Amino acid sequence: MPDITPTQAARLDTVRAATPAVRELAAAFHGAGHELYLVGGSVRDALMGRLGNDLDFTTSARPEEIEKLLKPRAVATWDVGRAYGTIAGRLDEPDGTSWLVEITTFRADAYDPDSRKPQIAFGDHLGGDLIRRDFTVNAMAVAMDTGELFDPFDGIIDLEDRVLRTPSAPEISFSDDPLRMLRAARFASQLGFLPVPEVVRAMADLKDRLEIVSAERIRDELVKLLLTDHPRIGLDLLVETGIADLVLPELPALKMEIDEHNHHKDVYEHSLTVLDQAIALEKARGHQPDIVNRLAALLHDIGKPKTRRFEAGGKVSFYHHDIVGAKLAAKRMQALRFSGDEIKAVSKLIELHLRFHGYGEGQWTDSAVRRYVRDAGDLLERLHILTRSDCTTRNVAKANRLRTAYEQLEWRIDELAAQEELDAIRPDLNGDQIMEILGIGPGREVGKAYKFLLDLRMEAGPLGPERAKEELLRWWESQPKAD
Ligand code: ATP
Ligand code: MG
Repeated sequence: MPDITPTQAARLDTVRAATPAVRELAAAFHGAGHELYLVGGSVRDALMGRLGNDLDFTTSARPEEIEKLLKPRAVATWDVGRAYGTIAGRLDEPDGTSWLVEITTFRADAYDPDSRKPQIAFGDHLGGDLIRRDFTVNAMAVAMDTGELFDPFDGIIDLEDRVLRTPSAPEISFSDDPLRMLRAARFASQLGFLPVPEVVRAMADLKDRLEIVSAERIRDELVKLLLTDHPRIGLDLLVETGIADLVLPELPALKMEIDEHNHHKDVYEHSLTVLDQAIALEKARGHQPDIVNRLAALLHDIGKPKTRRFEAGGKVSFYHHDIVGAKLAAKRMQALRFSGDEIKAVSKLIELHLRFHGYGEGQWTDSAVRRYVRDAGDLLERLHILTRSDCTTRNVAKANRLRTAYEQLEWRIDELAAQEELDAIRPDLNGDQIMEILGIGPGREVGKAYKFLLDLRMEAGPLGPERAKEELLRWWESQPKAD
């Protein structure tokens, strides 16, 4: 048994023993003569004390058998990839918690070097399954019957050292499934683990193999990377290894040489800082990790390299980089098969990211503020986050000035909205109804009655037509009559 701390041993035991539904499932597999192991990311996360509700298992059972054993014990089951040997289901524990379990037949896949998808073959033993996993920290398994930990590639040591290493030679592993190179960047961000130098070298050497990977798989890994707390780490790795040149070329293109007059800052560094700030604001304002926010922050300046002009007097300009950037972002996101809604949202945010800079020290008229709100539409909160994040100046006075101005803009937006809501308030009865109820024709009395009902509405909120009629009649009684 590899060396693990008593705390780690206790964590593994908790998953195995303190969970009646999982225990019963394991007993069913063993009763049918099959092996069942907790495996991969679940073992890693359990050892690190960060296990969520996902449990991955590997087994000697074939998919049909897995389904037969899982179905009667799960609230729901679904087929995540029968061809890959994976059946998933939800298990509910008596205490109300639930697990999402994914059970996969031992794999022993052979790869076709030119195919987009790994060729699948089922295996007969755990060892063959573990060696084809991406990283040693993801290649450990716990036997559900004995609790024994299998760690043939010293994943425990790598976990301790916080490094990413492949179970076999990285060149072979990455050549078999090039997506693993993107997974390395994702785990670097997600876990804060450093890929060992051989892995980084193999990423740089084999990056062109990513050509055989489908855009959807690449997108999914990029999204996972961007939704971590520290995407900068993984993004830097993708840029350093040249992988970004293939999957997101607009990002490394931001590394424009700083011109001799130092007239514009490093746009690449700026973009990563804007992303960091957008993530911090997203949290501070109570939002969940949001891919639209993050892509907009990362890509907001990708129009700059194309629009850079060296003007007379040594100045540099980037006219229309908002429009150009919006188009480039849409194109890239289309190539990566993002949804139409996501593409529209990100490119609109980029198009609007400079709008606030006309605001100056608060010179906008109310109608300019209203246009800002209308143009942002349902992206307004994200535009607030992007615009506020897009300030990375080291000049404290300037930063403060911008922040105060934006605060004022948000405050004016709230005020206008509140005023417009008030303006939209109508009494519970209209003029025609008033005339009908009081049996009078048009005239000053109707206006007075209308004003009475409006004041009442402001005071007491909506009354409904019945009560409004009662109140109107009572008021009418109390009015001095002309005759
Ligand atoms: P998380 O669930 O937090 O995203 P994970 O490590 O569980 O992380 P998954 O994508 O859920 O990642 O994969 C589950 C396990 O399957 C991994 O831990 C790894 O052992 C294995 N695996 C997944 N994708 C690959 C791949 N492309 N090549 C090799 N092994 C893989
Ligand atoms: Mg997982």
